[in-house]
Amino acid sequence: MRSSHHEWLFAAGLLVLAAVCAASVLAASFRTERDIQVHVVPLAGQDARLTAAGGGWRVDGGSRPQSARLHFVLPDQAVPGQRWVLAFNRDIVEEISVGNGVWRSPVRRFFAPGEDEGAIPSLFLFPLPEDWRGPVVLDVTMHSPVGNVMRPRVLRDFTATRIEQRTIAMAASVYASLFMLALVMLALFYAAHDRVFLAYFGFALSALLMLAALNGHLYLLPGFRALAPWREQGVAALTMIFCAAAVQIYLRYADLRTLSPRAARAANALCATLLGIAGLCLLGLDALRGAMQTASMLGRLAASFGCIAISVDAARRKLPMAWPIAAMSVLTGVAAIVAELLSRGYFDDMWWTGRGYQVALVACAALLAIGLAARVGDYRSQRDRAKLAHEDSDRRAAREAARLALAEGLQAQLKTLAAGDLEWTAYRRVLDQLQAILGLDAAAVAVFGADDQTFLVAEPVERKPYFARIVAQRQSVLKGLARTRAPLQVSLDDPAAPAQPGPVPAVVPLPLRSPQWGVMILERARGEGFTTDELSLAGEFGRLAVQALEQAHAAIRLRRSAEMDALTGALNRRTLDQWLTRSFAEAHRGNKELSILFVDLDNFKSINDTHGHAAGDHCLRRVSGALHGVIDGQDLLARYGGEEFLVASPGANADLARQLGERIRAAVEDLPVEWSGHALKLTASVGVASRWPHEHTPNETIERADKALYAAKRGGRNRVSVAPAVFV
Ligand code: GH3
Ligand code: MG
Ligand code: MG
Repeated sequence: MRSSHHEWLFAAGLLVLAAVCAASVLAASFRTERDIQVHVVPLAGQDARLTAAGGGWRVDGGSRPQSARLHFVLPDQAVPGQRWVLAFNRDIVEEISVGNGVWRSPVRRFFAPGEDEGAIPSLFLFPLPEDWRGPVVLDVTMHSPVGNVMRPRVLRDFTATRIEQRTIAMAASVYASLFMLALVMLALFYAAHDRVFLAYFGFALSALLMLAALNGHLYLLPGFRALAPWREQGVAALTMIFCAAAVQIYLRYADLRTLSPRAARAANALCATLLGIAGLCLLGLDALRGAMQTASMLGRLAASFGCIAISVDAARRKLPMAWPIAAMSVLTGVAAIVAELLSRGYFDDMWWTGRGYQVALVACAALLAIGLAARVGDYRSQRDRAKLAHEDSDRRAAREAARLALAEGLQAQLKTLAAGDLEWTAYRRVLDQLQAILGLDAAAVAVFGADDQTFLVAEPVERKPYFARIVAQRQSVLKGLARTRAPLQVSLDDPAAPAQPGPVPAVVPLPLRSPQWGVMILERARGEGFTTDELSLAGEFGRLAVQALEQAHAAIRLRRSAEMDALTGALNRRTLDQWLTRSFAEAHRGNKELSILFVDLDNFKSINDTHGHAAGDHCLRRVSGALHGVIDGQDLLARYGGEEFLVASPGANADLARQLGERIRAAVEDLPVEWSGHALKLTASVGVASRWPHEHTPNETIERADKALYAAKRGGRNRVSVAPAVFV
């Protein structure tokens, strides 16, 4: 809702403007010189009477013309070039004329203005013969269908002209204002497609037509002369149409159609009645003339009260501009009633009474226009805000869903991967997702290790050389940005090569543990920028990737430690058993070779005895390291127990296994081991056995290898012994 400050400022400004306009125009009537007193004497036998206020002659409505006699005295002194003019207010009369035995004026008609009366006549003017002096007696004959009060004045011709001009100015400004309001509302309808503006356009046009008809100016316009035959009934019909339009526009302004359907129904019923009266008027039935005048007066009253009630209710609900509109509506209503009473002779003519309601009506229409525009503006901004909030929450939900999907996807995917594939897979997935959500042209992740070794993933892959160049050239800048931990858009162009400026990418730091550091570099097509929201999303995705990677690495370490022998780093017995069971079954299925080598250190007990257990443990670690150096990638080394190791070699037949046993033996023999300044001499005996074709479990092969080891021990130690093969 607008602040009431603004609306009062608006209203005050408008009223001051309207007042200045009205005052400057109406001042003409105010300053009218009543040079010459005119006495009106109703003629005998007629119904004509003087008004209560005097100065005017009240004419009853009806079909018969009525007459009165005017008495006035013109000065004896004639001023050259100056004429006297007899003037009557221009109200609805069929015809009016003056004359006596020697002179007759032309007949003036409200519904058919003469060519000589100008573009916008405002008085009935009768210039008197130039040579008239002294007392004058003139008879007025007029026929008014509605009944009104005629106020004759004798003026100098220039005074009459001045009054005419000022009244013309006022009428023209009233018409122009309404016309402009109508046009502006039409433009607003075109711009905003809100039908309330179209309704206002109709309201302003109907006001314009009604005022033009009431002032008699409508019948000067070529297109509207056709309305003249309806006479006062036509004016009444236009008034009723205006009243219905006014009630409708107030209804829309106050939004009663949705807030209070009952009140809206009542208002619509009133409008229907008003339009019904208008329709009856347009039938032009003579019998209905009097009844229609009464009905139209009641209709005007009802519409005024309706509009005032609606605007007061709107003001209580604090709609924009509602108090000014309510106040102005009351003022317009009062001014209209005063004008009505004036035309019935209850007041003498005062400067503001005659046309004041027209100015008030324009001011009211202007306030309504502002109020309506403000209402529509409020409604729209409310709707826009709601829409924005909705879009915002949608976007948040979508991002949260993407975040969750990424977190879950990363966890599930990284679980199945070997350590070497983790980084590549995780960052690639993050870049894919970011590309889908942010619409990236190209993106990359660069991670630097302690030794400044670079790891770079680019999306699409063809852009990898481009990013590799940027990373190489701008490494120090990137490192600085990575330290800030805040995403930033920054140009990564090489300052030394002032070629065409490239796109300004976003650099999103990855929260890696020192000494590692890394960034994501995101680029949009045509160098479009990123919102803070998008940058924070990218940062969040980067954080998710780093987290998932840390978890995956930790899980791998944990898995490994559960499989390892803590002292030697070889696999432990439990893992060995599982592996052997699986490998024997596989080898049996595929009819493949598989050999087992038992490695037992010779006279190890003496090392423990001589140098202590710590020295024995040291030797076991050294031997394990040496054996790791000897075996193949697919071979398996486990600590079988005590100082016994087991090597399983898939794919190796007895001969290859023997060669491997020999290498192991030699490796242990050549292994330099030192303990407390003493060089320790180690040797090992190796027993080798290969799987027989029918064997699908490891037990028998292990037993044969054990026997072969025993044979090696018996044979003098530091040697390899192979269990006998089976020949099939
Ligand atoms: P050989 O095999 O040549 O017949 O003689 P040996 O002295 O090696 O005999 P054996 O294999 O029976 O003895 C194993 C010894 O290894 C017993 C124990 O003192 C030592 N040993 C076993 N496990 C460990 C261990 O975890 N740490 C240390 N320090 N010694 C161990
Ligand atoms: Mg031993
Ligand atoms: Mg042993």
